[in-house]
Amino acid sequence: MSIAESAVQKNNLKRVVRVVLEIGQFSGVEPELLRFAFKVIKKGTVLEQAEIEIEVPPLLLYCNECETEYLGEIDQLRCPGCLKERFKVIRGREMMVRSIVGG
Ligand SMILES: [Zn+2]
Repeated sequence: MSIAESAVQKNNLKRVVRVVLEIGQFSGVEPELLRFAFKVIKKGTVLEQAEIEIEVPPLLLYCNECETEYLGEIDQLRCPGCLKERFKVIRGREMMVRSIVGG
């Protein structure tokens, strides 16, 4: 929330109509919980009128076995090449504010 509020001050916005967040599937954040929390905490702040939009970036994994990158799903993490699950996460842990739209 503080990121959003400082962006509001910096850009001289009177109110915020939309906050776009990028939440990776491996970030540990549950989008539905976040939506709910946002509704509660925005009351009485510059974000009171704002809608939240959550973008989920692709889950990009790197196979330690065959040393290739591949796209995974949260319920399908296996490497398509060797069918192993020995990966590291390249993209998918994001948790950031992408944009704030004022009105
Ligand atoms: Zn592999």
